Amino acid sequence: MGDMVVESGTAAPCDEQSAPDDCPQCGTGPETYTMLRGMYKFDVDLARSIVSDGREPLALDIEDVKYALEWSVIHEPHLDHVDLTYPGIIAHYWYPDTSGELLHGTVLIDGHHRAAKALQRNVPFYVVVLTEAESKKVTLRSPEVGVAME
Ligand SMILES: [Zn+2]
Repeated sequence: MGDMVVESGTAAPCDEQSAPDDCPQCGTGPETYTMLRGMYKFDVDLARSIVSDGREPLALDIEDVKYALEWSVIHEPHLDHVDLTYPGIIAHYWYPDTSGELLHGTVLIDGHHRAAKALQRNVPFYVVVLTEAESKKVTLRSPEVGVAME
């Protein structure tokens, strides 16, 4: 106790001391990430808890940072008080193509504001990566859910 472990749901990567009361991004409570109009939903609190095991953060390629930001809505005032010492989180996801084959990709599920801040400041943005098994654990909803797994 009292160490640097990020506990689920208690240590959002936002410095609450400097956060204005009216910042909608600085709420407490459970945090999830949805993409593609809700087709996918990820449990960000669980993901933060999983990656708090001390795994090594990697600097995300600048093109990947830009790509991740194309898909996110950035609330500018929130950038002032997000904490770049917390890495973002990358998860694997799977999607059926038109022929029904399951394709595979990766997505940033946590840290979009930190990514935007790092880009603005021209500093590296660090991420930690979930394994495929961990990614499945934090996936609350995805298109293949409901399809019988072989
Ligand atoms: Zn904020």
